[in-house]
Amino acid sequence: MSDQPRATLDWIDTANRDRADQHLSRTLQARGPSTGRTIVDGGRALLNFASNDYLALACDPRVIEAATHAARTFGWGAGASPAVVGWKLPHQELAQELASFEQAEACLLFPTGFAANQGAIQALTSPGDALYLDRLAHASLVSGARASGAALRVYPHLDHARLCEILQRERCRYRRVLIATEGLFSMDGDQPPLPQLSHIAQHFDCMLLVDEAHATGVVGPEGRGAAAKHQVADSVHVRVGTLSKALGSLGGFVVGTRALITHVQHAAPTFLYSTSLPPAAAAAAREALRISRSEPWRREQLLALSGHLAERLTRLGWNLPEPPSPILPVHLGSPERTKAWSDALLQAGFLVPAIRPPTVPRGGARLRISLNAAHTSADVEALANAIAQLRTRENPSHD
Ligand SMILES: *Cc1c(COP(=O)(O)O)cnc(C)c1O
Repeated sequence: MSDQPRATLDWIDTANRDRADQHLSRTLQARGPSTGRTIVDGGRALLNFASNDYLALACDPRVIEAATHAARTFGWGAGASPAVVGWKLPHQELAQELASFEQAEACLLFPTGFAANQGAIQALTSPGDALYLDRLAHASLVSGARASGAALRVYPHLDHARLCEILQRERCRYRRVLIATEGLFSMDGDQPPLPQLSHIAQHFDCMLLVDEAHATGVVGPEGRGAAAKHQVADSVHVRVGTLSKALGSLGGFVVGTRALITHVQHAAPTFLYSTSLPPAAAAAAREALRISRSEPWRREQLLALSGHLAERLTRLGWNLPEPPSPILPVHLGSPERTKAWSDALLQAGFLVPAIRPPTVPRGGARLRISLNAAHTSADVEALANAIAQLRTRENPSHD
């Protein structure tokens, strides 16, 4: 009897061993302070090409001051879920500002972007409905689909023609259908054909959700996202964003019509049954949003750096998505090779994460370079040179 608990959990040892054998283990590392451009790691300052803090606002003194002030006024924790007493003035102010920024009727805040996606999908679909997802869409969208009980259908990455064919055949099987895509894909840095998707959604009477997690603050006029860039924001029924990336804070949001937001507010379990994000996180995001709008040089710098690095990597032989974004994937194939390149770059002073399955599909291991507005052209040039050197070292005959 006494060895039963161990036997029950033996499968976990096997799972951990299998992961290690396939070079898929990850060790959590406690990092030191970051400036946006750099991050302290093991006592060394590295150039940081690993964060989603695209506008370098997470460490901005004005953002920190806004958070500090709100924490002094409202306390640190929100203390309750929003429907009880967890919805404070900073939440309200941020929600209003985001709605006006996104030119939407209303906005709802969630503890994270993950919770926003999951909650919105659970509020909008149930058994008898279907969710059509781009194959590379984020885990939170998949998780929402699973939790909702709706059928989960997957279409090939960016392939709106295929989606159209599938819907032609299957639309009649379901009551309500939600099509969901990312506005800027988190691991590939490419963008979906939103005008076509919006057209398909209208044609087949489907709801359309665009997850703008990586696009908010980065893509489109004033950083309003991919839907705004393609001028389809009005026909995208649900736009989800995060405060945790370009806005340098923590939290998620959904914008849409007032009716949609009222419904989500009453039907999203991740909104109803989870504590509000800290008021200070909301205040910080609000200040970050203000800065992001009033300092367009951040987006311009990001775009210039992205173009420059994409050009260098293309000349080295990698295929990069058009138009270039601050997310630049360097495909290396095997997890082992990707880890080796990431380690070598670390030695040279660059923090560039090795992204391996299950974050990306099997065979899709890559370095994921992410740029931010605090990087300089010299930083990017140095990184490109280091990558060129690694390629030459691996394959000396090539040069
Ligand atoms: C990061 C991310 C999320 C989740 O946002 P968090 O605020 O980090 O929880 C959702 N969707 C996509 C595409 C993301 O990359």
